Parts: sequence; C-alpha cells; structure tokens
Amino acid sequence: MECEVAVNVNNQVNGTTKILCIIGHPVRHSLSPAMQNAALRACGLDYVYVPFDVAPEDLGAAITGLQALGVSGFNVTIPHKTGIMQYLDDVDATAEAAGAVNTVKNDCGRLIGYNTDGDGLIRSCAHEFGFNAPGASIAIIGAGGAARGAVAALCRAGAGRIVIANRTRERASELASDMAARFPDTVLHVVEGFKALEEGLADIDMLVNTTSLGMNRDSEPVLRLARLPRTAVIYDMVYAPPVTPLLREAAGLGLKGANGLGMLAAQGELAFTIWTGVTPPYGLMKSVLDGICDY
Ligand code: NAP
Repeated sequence: MECEVAVNVNNQVNGTTKILCIIGHPVRHSLSPAMQNAALRACGLDYVYVPFDVAPEDLGAAITGLQALGVSGFNVTIPHKTGIMQYLDDVDATAEAAGAVNTVKNDCGRLIGYNTDGDGLIRSCAHEFGFNAPGASIAIIGAGGAARGAVAALCRAGAGRIVIANRTRERASELASDMAARFPDTVLHVVEGFKALEEGLADIDMLVNTTSLGMNRDSEPVLRLARLPRTAVIYDMVYAPPVTPLLREAAGLGLKGANGLGMLAAQGELAFTIWTGVTPPYGLMKSVLDGICDY
C-alpha cells in the first residue's frame, strides 16, 4: 500500500483515488461527507469521503472489508466509538484515556485509532472564546462518550479542575476515577446531579454540555447559570437547534456561549490531517457546515 500524499489536480474520482469514509448507524444525516469532500477538493487531494451505514452486528465484517479494500482512513460515529477499539492494531493516548475512537488511519495496513473529539472541543473553544485549558476550572454535564473524550483532552491540555455531573452518578464516578488515575495534575470531582452543579458554579471558567439534552429547543435548560461568574463561557456540544435552551439561558445572563458546530468542524480538520498529512484551509469545514445548517 502507498503511503504518500495523493494529489488530484482535476478533482475527479479515477483509478488512483483513495477512499475515506464514516461508519455509523444511522449515518445518513452525517454532515462529515460534505465538509470532508469540500476540504479534499480545496486541497486538490486524490481522495473521496463516503458514508457507510454499519449495524452493530456487522462491525467486525465491515472492518475486515475496509481493510481488504485498502481504505485509507475512516471516522467512527455512534454507536461504534467504543466497539471499534477491539479491531484496531493501536490507539493513541487520548483515545485510550477516553475509551473511544472517532478516527482511524490505515497506516500501511495497520489500523490506528485516534480521538479528535476532545481536541476539537478545545480548538473550537479557543476559537470562540480565546479559551485556554491550562489551569482552568471546568464543569462538565454528562458522562457518556462525548464527555470522556472532552475530559481526557482537557486533562491532557492541563485543566486545573474538572467537576462532572451526570444523571447516572456511577457513570460520572467511573469517568472521574479513570481520569484521576491517568492525569494526577487535574483535580476531578463528581457532584450529585445537576442541581448540585448549579449551586457550585461560582468558580467555574467554562461549562460544557456533553449530553443530548437541548436538542428540543422548547425544553428548559438542563441547569440555571445565575451562579456562574460573568466571565464564564458556555459550550453546548448540541448544534441543532443552534441556540439551545442552555445557550438561551447564557445569552439572557450576558454570558458568552457557542454550540457544537465548531467542534464538529474542528474534529474533522484534525482527522483530515491525520489521514492526509495536510492542514485543510482555515475555516473551510465550518463554513460548509454553516451553509448546510442555515437555520
Ligand atoms: P452517550 O455516550 O449516549 O451519552 C449520553 C449522555 O447524555 C449521558 O451522560 C447521558 O446520561 C446523558 N443523557 C441522555 N439523555 C438524558 C436525559 N434525558 N436526562 C439527563 N441526561 C441524559 O452519547 P455521546 O456520544 O456522549 O453524545 C452526547 C451528545 O453529544 C449527542 O447529542 C452528540 O450528538 C453530541 N456530540 C457532539 C459532537 C460535536 O462535534 N459537536 C461530538 C460528539 C458528540 P446517563 O449516563 O445518565 O445516561
């Protein structure tokens, strides 16, 4: 298998075109093909990015097939981010800490797993708010796969303190103890439910919602933000609706907030570079997403 950068000045699929893809179930609503193909075209790279709907029971066969076909790399989305790990030859440190993989590179026949979700969050927060993780005090709502990626990346980036609240407390405790063992320089706390988190917001620099709560624009915010300092920022990983109930609450208090569209673009930029070795044009993927999600 060739491992050099493949260039295609005509932007046409041909006999040498390499394949990138996303596997998930369902995958038909994925925004990744549009933004990845736009970036591949902009860079003149001889790749194409396609979606594959893979049911959980077919995951092993799908990976065998992708390897047999020499696919160059792929994204992994719900529900396969954890299940994929058993099929990989290696995973990087952030993916290992997160216990989840969203990007796989076929490195000359070896499948290497990465997790670019958490670094995508950090990159998007830096862009939106000028946020710096080192020493920061961060509140995380949720303890699922997205939270694990976020907490692992924030710890790795030097966050000072992370407080986690989740509907199912045991899941939050497991996340905190896993990360505490790996990242002793970050103080990790679990609080009992969203109300307790609400009461302990006074010294928080950034609050991140990693749950799907907020997809219903008419629902109440998952918690009230009145106790946050005026300098705090709010990141909601949900991006549809664009102004989630939590972001509406933040705006009402004059707090800066952002939805998860920037994170989606940023995790995609990082994956693109892992696969191709090329940095996509700045802001291109986000502008493609903004065009699709023209709310
Ligand atoms: P997941 O592993 O299934 O975790 C879901 C989380 O949401 C858990 O903490 C769960 O709490 C909580 N939750 C779900 N329904 C709830 C409810 N009714 N009340 C309270 N808590 C509830 O899913 P995930 O992979 O972490 O994804 C979570 C969200 O992040 C999704 O909306 C996903 O689209 C979004 N996301 C966005 C990006 C991006 O790029 N913007 C990237 C990744 C994920 P329990 O533990 O109690 O069940």
